[in-house]
Amino acid sequence: MTCAFDLDHYVELLDAARAGGYRFAFFDREPRSGDVLLRHDVDMSVEAAVAMGELEAERGVAATYFLMTRSEFYNLDARSGVAALERLRALGHRIGLHGVYPDATLDERFDPVVAWHTPDPEYMSEPVPGAVNVMQPGYFDPARYRSDSNQHWRGGCPHDELAAGAFDWLQLLVHPEIWVYDGATMRETMESQLDAERELRRRRLGDNRIDLS
Ligand SMILES: [Zn+2]
Ligand SMILES: [Zn+2]
Repeated sequence: MTCAFDLDHYVELLDAARAGGYRFAFFDREPRSGDVLLRHDVDMSVEAAVAMGELEAERGVAATYFLMTRSEFYNLDARSGVAALERLRALGHRIGLHGVYPDATLDERFDPVVAWHTPDPEYMSEPVPGAVNVMQPGYFDPARYRSDSNQHWRGGCPHDELAAGAFDWLQLLVHPEIWVYDGATMRETMESQLDAERELRRRRLGDNRIDLS
């Protein structure tokens, strides 16, 4: 098995968690033995989030998608953002806030759970009033946490350990863009994403009655 950052290996990761006897749980209570808390921080693309969410739902997997209201890359209030949020909910996923500190404004779109975007150590684990902070004690334990940030697994790709049931529980942070867009390096994957964005934006020009004749 090669640990590529592509959807084939993502499915293998989900299958490994099943094979290891894990259940997929949410951030509505502290994790228990046998839980995998599947967390998706959506930094750049709601389209990638929906693609991943569809794939998970086909396999009976539910995750928590953390969406931004202050993204530099997408607009959750636009039609595309509203549609993505509705689709993720319809697929059985939960929605948390991927917040830009210190704004933890939770409206009716969100479950009461926050994951800070690019947090500084000073507030990373601090409690958030009225919500769970995914990095607070009880939900975060360095030995029970894996993240794919920038196509680099600190602690290694967890598929073998999941299949072997080696974690008591695991918070698994997966960024959808990294897996949905093709590329052997982060740079290549981001170039693929930019190519896809260009096509998407071209279509939106027409949708917004811009004359391209
Ligand atoms: Zn792997
Ligand atoms: Zn982020």
